[in-house]
Amino acid sequence: MYSPKIIDDDETEIRAEIDKRIVRSWEYHTEAERRVKMRMAHEFAEGWFQADLDLRKKNGQQHMHVSGATVGQHIDDCAICGRDLRHEIHAI
Ligand SMILES: [Zn+2]
Repeated sequence: MYSPKIIDDDETEIRAEIDKRIVRSWEYHTEAERRVKMRMAHEFAEGWFQADLDLRKKNGQQHMHVSGATVGQHIDDCAICGRDLRHEIHAI
């Protein structure tokens, strides 16, 4: 299935990649921070997976809005399609 691969460079960065393209990254400087960022990365990948699954189910029409806040966009902008939360393409 289509979801980002989570890669930790074991130095300062965790990356979420799709087809070797970085879609999101998290920096860390301490072990505690690293654990928090790793959890965020996995939640991000899960959210992406769910949204993509929903997108496929609905034949590329509607999908669950994914908060853009997770990818550094405005919270109302969808992380998947970039459209506003209230756009009709969003099932919720
Ligand atoms: Zn969308």
